[in-house]
Amino acid sequence: MSAEAILTMNGSNEDYLSLSQVRGRYVFSYELSKMTWFKVGGPAEVLFKPKDTEDLISFFKQKPSDLAITVLGAGSNVLVRDQGIKGCVIKLGSGFSDITFNAKEVIAGAGCLDRTVVMECAAQGLSGLEFLVGIPGTIGGAVYMNAGAYGHEIKDYLNWVEVVSLDGILTRFQSSELSMEYRKGNLPKGAVVVRASFILNEKKPAQIMQSINAYLQQREDSQPVRGRTGGSTFKNPADQSAWKLIDDAGCRGLTINDAQVSTKHCNFLLNLDAAKASELEQLGENVRQAVKEQTGIELEWEIIRLGE
Ligand SMILES: Cc1cc2nc3c(=O)[nH]c(=O)nc-3n(C[C@H](O)[C@H](O)[C@H](O)COP(=O)(O)OP(=O)(O)OC[C@H]3O[C@@H](n4cnc5c(N)ncnc54)[C@H](O)[C@@H]3O)c2cc1C
Repeated sequence: MSAEAILTMNGSNEDYLSLSQVRGRYVFSYELSKMTWFKVGGPAEVLFKPKDTEDLISFFKQKPSDLAITVLGAGSNVLVRDQGIKGCVIKLGSGFSDITFNAKEVIAGAGCLDRTVVMECAAQGLSGLEFLVGIPGTIGGAVYMNAGAYGHEIKDYLNWVEVVSLDGILTRFQSSELSMEYRKGNLPKGAVVVRASFILNEKKPAQIMQSINAYLQQREDSQPVRGRTGGSTFKNPADQSAWKLIDDAGCRGLTINDAQVSTKHCNFLLNLDAAKASELEQLGENVRQAVKEQTGIELEWEIIRLGE
């Protein structure tokens, strides 16, 4: 069956599900604004929530070759455009949320929230991932983005990662096989992270909690953590801070309707209420232009822009 055939089966999707032998759930025309931190974005033609890794593998093996695939974690680093995403958006849920410990190793499902993993590690007396505590994403997103903060990055602790390729092959990569760099996991194209292993250090839980609380306080003081945002909008150019360049270019507080450059941390864009994705994106482009005119530096988007 072609992708087009599947996506035009509105009303009879259940028939397709029973035929396909996939145990997960499809939701057609799912409004992605419900799932992204910016609270903007049009619909996914179809959202697929696989039951577990085997289900995801089975889906990939049976899917039409022309079906476009996009994977989302917690949607905390993406700007989904207003016309939505064509094809299938995959969201990993509770079947990808196991956390297991083996001495100094923690293995976490890609659907786990970073914060949950950090807290469980703290309870086990395992230290290293505390820097993730205020990053509101999933382990899958963190590995894909090589998330980092306060001088630490995922790659410093990653042991291995398991991914499923678009043709349904499960592969384990040792961290040393990936050339992870600043905000780039450099995974094979289209690979969906399903599990990751980290090697941590032993420490007293109370000491770990102290660092966690300090990181949380630091964020609270410097970032609009409760806003509708996508985190850092632009990557820091070598030896420069994006926020400083943006501030110096006079962009702090700039708005287009309800899209605003945060006054608290000007590398964050905010949806104050009813901003459209197009307004947030245009505001970002205006910031890039202002910084370029002032300094000659071209800021690179860190936020992943998806869709039409
Ligand atoms: C308030 C706030 C603060 C933030 N602070 C930081 C920070 O300090 N440091 C930092 O690095 N980031 C930060 N971020 C950005 C963001 O939280 C991280 O990049 C996070 O790791 C993204 O995870 P996610 O699950 O939300 O991914 P999403 O935003 O859903 O997706 C991001 C990218 O990862 C891909 N992806 C997601 N899951 C998978 C998977 N299972 N397999 C393959 N690809 C996948 C998506 O396709 C997309 O390209 C912040 C964001 C916010 C809103």
